[in-house]
Parts: sequence; structure tokens; C-alpha cells
Amino acid sequence: MHFPPGVNTPTPSGAHPSSLLLQGLNDEQSAAVTLPADHSLILAGAGSGKTRVLTTRIAWLLQTGQVSPGGVLAVTFTNKAAKEMLTRLSAMLPLNVRGMWVGTFHGLCNRFLRAHWKLANLPQTFQILDTQDQLSAIKRLGKQFQVDEERFPPKQTMWFIAGCKEDGLRPKDVDVRDPDTRKKVELYELYEAQCQREGVVDFGELMLRSYELLRDNDPIREHYRRRFRHILIDEFQDTNKLQYAWIKQLAGPVAQDGGAVFAVGDDDQSIYAFRGARVGNMADFVREYQVQHQIKLEQNYRSFSNILDSANHLIDHNKNRLGKNLHTTQGAGEPVRIYESPTDFAEAQWMVEEMKQLLREGQNGDDAQGVAHRHEIAVLYRSNAQSRVIETALFNAAMPYRVYGGLRFFERAEIKHALAYLRLLENPRDDTSFMRVVNFPPRGIGARSIEQLQDIARAMGCPLHDAVSTLTGKAGVNITAFVAKIDVLREQTQGQNLRQIIELLLDHSGLVEHYQSEREGADRIENLTELVNAAESFVTQEGFGREAVAMPVNGEMINPDTGETLSPLAAFLTHAALESGDNQAQAGQDAVQLMTVHASKGLEFDCVFITGMEEGLFPHENSMNDYDGLEEERRLMYVAITRARRRLYLSHSQTRMLHGQTRYNIKSRFFDELPAHALKWITRQQPTWVENDWHSKASAPTPVVQRAPGATGPNAWVRSGVQVFHTKFGEGTVVGMEGVGDDARAQVNFSRHGMKWLALSVAKLTQV
Ligand code: ATP
Ligand code: MG
Repeated sequence: MHFPPGVNTPTPSGAHPSSLLLQGLNDEQSAAVTLPADHSLILAGAGSGKTRVLTTRIAWLLQTGQVSPGGVLAVTFTNKAAKEMLTRLSAMLPLNVRGMWVGTFHGLCNRFLRAHWKLANLPQTFQILDTQDQLSAIKRLGKQFQVDEERFPPKQTMWFIAGCKEDGLRPKDVDVRDPDTRKKVELYELYEAQCQREGVVDFGELMLRSYELLRDNDPIREHYRRRFRHILIDEFQDTNKLQYAWIKQLAGPVAQDGGAVFAVGDDDQSIYAFRGARVGNMADFVREYQVQHQIKLEQNYRSFSNILDSANHLIDHNKNRLGKNLHTTQGAGEPVRIYESPTDFAEAQWMVEEMKQLLREGQNGDDAQGVAHRHEIAVLYRSNAQSRVIETALFNAAMPYRVYGGLRFFERAEIKHALAYLRLLENPRDDTSFMRVVNFPPRGIGARSIEQLQDIARAMGCPLHDAVSTLTGKAGVNITAFVAKIDVLREQTQGQNLRQIIELLLDHSGLVEHYQSEREGADRIENLTELVNAAESFVTQEGFGREAVAMPVNGEMINPDTGETLSPLAAFLTHAALESGDNQAQAGQDAVQLMTVHASKGLEFDCVFITGMEEGLFPHENSMNDYDGLEEERRLMYVAITRARRRLYLSHSQTRMLHGQTRYNIKSRFFDELPAHALKWITRQQPTWVENDWHSKASAPTPVVQRAPGATGPNAWVRSGVQVFHTKFGEGTVVGMEGVGDDARAQVNFSRHGMKWLALSVAKLTQV
């Protein structure tokens, strides 16, 4: 049946269709959905139905004929959330949602500028600069105007410009109080002129240019004010100053007949201060728009009470809150499980085992205990670099997974750059890698010179590397210097082990310095140092993702299929290529979801693992010394906990490889801020789980051994105290055992190589 907006068609049962939309909502939610067309604020905690209310309100407004689809503007935080909203809308109403203005701030501004490119003084085909392009543009400027790069690093200039734009400031609006700021403002002005000449805009410009067009062009502004009768904003707590100003342009001053703003938010979930988010926008909105309708939603529909109590207790430790309480009628549910592991590898392996168990139970129809689908399981981490170990464990267990809102480890740009350098060390004829890094980090080699080189190589029928010697002029000098650098590095790495090779490369390629001055470069540097860990564990952790590529025999890596010898570097590169290949679940395939806590905002899952709950990691070390920083970390943790519907696991590890070294960790302070009654500390002992109640164990749980770990079958002789020989590591003594059967691992103290954990099903040990 088709209900065009404005036609109130009764249903067969006699109920009015709009009342059907309200079915199942509680009183406050219904009241919020059906508020009159005035400005309103829905302030409510996680999982209380804010997004549901916002979406239902759009459907209700359409169905009761108060607005046409073209009269609605809805802003959400991520593309995924926008898509979700459109899907939900089309499920509620037979409606073509394609023309509706539902999207992210950047997406909607782009749409607006595409429609009014001429008035916005842009070419019709204006291009959007990403951060990388933006930086090269600033560097080019610096060269042209002989800017001292030491004093004005290009990246700082870039942040300065982005910060000004987030605050809605053009160069002339900046308050100049010192010569340095004057210089930066000058660069901002030159950068603007260059972008304008080239017909490009950066992300900040999309937002600022739309705002200015609305502010300065009366007919356009009036047109949109008349058009958008209803402006709905989800996650309002994370809007920045310019975004709020943009909304105000569309809504108009309070006294005039502008659109009604329906803002939805949760101050406890404000997690983007580092990008200029202003929780204060909520209070400003209430004051400036004389908001009459404020509704609080206090019932949480997402989580069982053990999970909800944990979230409430935790966030109660923050002082700067508007304060609200959430309750649920769903009952206590499962306790929040806490797991402590000796290493990050063990943490990841434990998690995979637990997932398998949950899926087994779910597929057996035990909904209370298990999880029926992989996509109902999410793994959240504070820092991107943590994903590698988890990815490897999932890969080895053949468990499909998808890294969401970010790239998988081996697909990240910085890792690909580093791998391209490594590939060139291994094979100078690799033209793809050559092209990737010949001018990265930028070393003054222009596109024209590269084209020239490609032409020569094509004519000579040789790799780019070999054609370089024929180049002349300035282009020739720079490219020759690059090739010479790679050739020297190759010589220096002769005889070095994999770790040394990668460290040397990171030191000499300029990648680390390059990212050091980038606004969000710290994350990329973390990932680069994580590459050293990846290599290290590739070499030493037997049975951890390597056997498909190479097996160690007498100190060599041997391809198990062909028997050919590979250098450790070649073996590692193959491993990296395989890992970045097809393993990411196919589109539509049921897959475990991996993401940072930031990316999980607004989403929900039956089962959530929050990993790396350690001081310095979560809360992150960058924010621990600063009160506001710590409160923001706590809000992040609140967001993480409240993603879980039925099961929540928190894990921490005594040791973790991060930033290129093993860190010995203490568990996160956040554990002390959770309610004891909701928690259960678990310890893994094969073959059963042993669970220690929090009350009976005041400190870290002591394992209760059900069955001594150890090897079975041909490796049954391996036990503590036995002398062993390993083809690569030589002689050593077994000092510990973990797991049984195929999972058995031995800790061996090798006289020449120190302590190693070896998976007995893979490592070939012989008794001495
Ligand atoms: P967040 O703060 O995490 O963004 P939210 O407040 O936007 O959360 P929603 O995602 O809208 O919350 O809702 C949380 C869950 O509760 C969803 O699965 C939603 O369908 C469900 N839900 C909301 N209201 C009700 C209700 N009245 N009855 C049953 N389920 C509900
Ligand atoms: Mg929401």
C-alpha cells in the first residue's frame, strides 16, 4: 500500500498508520517523536532510543503530512549511520528516500556546494583534497615563497589552517598577536589563493564555504530556510563550532519562521574534543533557541543491567556531567567477564576461542548463552595498532572478520609505504613499489620527472630503477639520489635479521619523521613500530600465521610447498601480502567486526570484547595527566561498554608488544570504577573454563588446575625440565607448558636465543 505524505490512510485494523509508528515506544519516546514543530533537545544516555526516536520522528512527520521528504534535513555522524537511517525509514514508509537530505556534515555540504558551485565561486568539477594532498600543497607553497620549514613546519601550518576553519575564521578574522601567527596567517592566505586557482577544497573548506554561502547570500539562505522545515541532528554533543553555526544559518534566528531544530545527544558520549567538538553547543542551543521542549529518556533498551550498571558506575566518576540515570527492565543478564592474559597473543587467542564457543552455542539454538552470527560479535580497541595481533589470531582460526571504519593493518597507507621500501630492498625491479615511494616522503620529484622516467624505461624495456642512470637535469639528480639511497640501504641490510632491517628502514626512509609532524601522525608511527613487532613475531612465534609461507630449517626459511629457500624478508613480505589479501570477509559474508572505540559510536552488538584494558593504553597515556583528557577517556570507555547488548568481555594483558618493545602493564584504573556485583573474573585453564567469583578473590585470580597442561601424542615427552633441540634456536630447556593436545605450547629457554614460546604441533623439537 502506498501512503503519499499528507494522506492519512487508515489501516485495515482501523488504526491510523501514524499511530502504528508509535507502537512499542515508551511514553517519553512517543512524546519526543510527536513534539510540535518547535526547537527541541532530547538529552539521553546510551541505548535509550535517541536514534530510534529521531528516525521515527522523520517517518511520523512525513506520514502525518507535516513535511515532504524534500523538507527534511537530517545529520548523522558517520556514513554508516546515515545509510542505516535511510534503510530504517524505507522500512517504515513506502518512500523513495534517495532524494532526501540525510547524511554527514561533510556529505551534505558537498551536496550543497555541488548544487551552487557558481555562487560558491568554485569550478563545477571542484575536487576534494585529502590530508595528504593538502600537505603537499602547503609544502609547494613553502618552497615557492622560501618559508623556513624549521620554523614553520608544513604540518603545523596545515593544522593551523584546519583549526581556523573549524572556528569559522578566514585569514582576515584571525587575531594576530605575534610575528609567528602573522606568518601563519600569511601562509593561510597564500594557501587559499592557491586552492582557489587550482579549483580544489579541503574538508574544512567544504564546511566553511557552505556556511559562508548561507550567511552571505540572502536568496539562497531564505530558500533553504523555507525548504528545510525540520532539521534533525543525531550525536549533537560532538558538533564543533562551525557545524553549529551552519545549523543556525539553516534554522534562522529564533524569532523568525525558520525550520525546527530537533537535536539529540548525550554529553557522556562526547569523544571528539581533539577535533574541536564542543559539548557546550547543547547549552548554547537551549539558550539561543529558547528551547521549550527538553525530553530525557531514561530507559535503556539495549543492555542487560550488569552491563548498564557497569556503564553507570564508571561514568559517575566524571565530574563534568549534566547527569542522568539509565535503568533497564531486562534483568541482570550475564556478568561482565574480565580476563587477564600473560601476553597480547594469548589475549587474542583466548578471545578467538571464546568466540568459537559462543558461536557453537548460538548455532545450537542456545540464544541465552551463545551468539548466532559472527557479525553480532565486536572487538573494540583504543588504538588502531592493537588490531594486528587480533587479526592474525582470527586469520589463523579461519574466522572471517571485517575491520570497520578503518583499514586492516597491512592495508594502511603507512604500512604499505614501509612494505614498498622493503620490497625495493628485496627486488629493485619492483616498479609498483618504486612508484609508491619514489616521492614519498616528498623529496622534490615532480610528476613530470616520473613520467619522463617511465617513458625512458618503456623505450629501453627495463625497470624504472635501471632507467634512472639515463636521466639528466634536476629530475635526474633527485631520482638518482633516491635510487642510490635504496641501493645503500640494501647493502647495509646484508646479514642483518628482519627486525634490524625494518628498524634501519624506518630510521632511513624518512617515514617516521614525515609522520611526526602530521596532525594524526602519532597513530601512523604507532603502526610503523607495530610492523617491527609483526616481523619479530613472524620470526619467533612458531605456528602463529607463518606456516603457510615458510618453515624454518637450519636457520633458513623454506617454502613448505616448493622447498625453495626464502630470505626472512621475502618470507615476511609474502606473509604480509597474504594477510592483506582476501582474508577480510567478502561483502555480505558473516564476519566478526573489529573497530576502534571511536568508530563504534551509535552501534550495538550482542557481544562485545573490549581489549587492552591497561594503564597507558586505555586510558591512553597521552590523556592520563590531564583532567579533561581523563574524563574524555572515561566517556570513551562508557561508549565502549554501552555497545553491548547481552555479553561484555573486558581483557587486559600483563605484557604487550607496542611501540616496538614489550611493555609490562598494570590493569586499567577503569576496572576499579566498575561495580563488583556485575563482574566475573575468568581464568583460562584447558580443557574447561575456571571461573573465580570476584568476591572470593580480592586480588588477581589464581588458576585452579583442572588438568595439567601438556602435550599428547608424539610430543608427549615434552615437559618442564627436559632438554630439547630446535633446528633454528639450537639447544634449550623447557621451563613451562600451556594448553593441551594440539594447543600445547612450551616455553623454552634456549642457551643462544633466550626464552621462546613454541607451539608443539608446529615446532619440530627433538629430545637431547
Ligand atoms: P546511542 O547513544 O548508543 O547512540 P541511542 O540512544 O541512539 O543509543 P538507539 O540505538 O536508538 O539508542 O536504541 C538502542 C536499542 O534499543 C535499539 O536496538 C533500539 O531498536 C532499541 N529500542 C529503543 N527504543 C525501544 C523501545 N521502546 N522498545 C524496544 N526497543 C527499543
Ligand atoms: Mg544513537
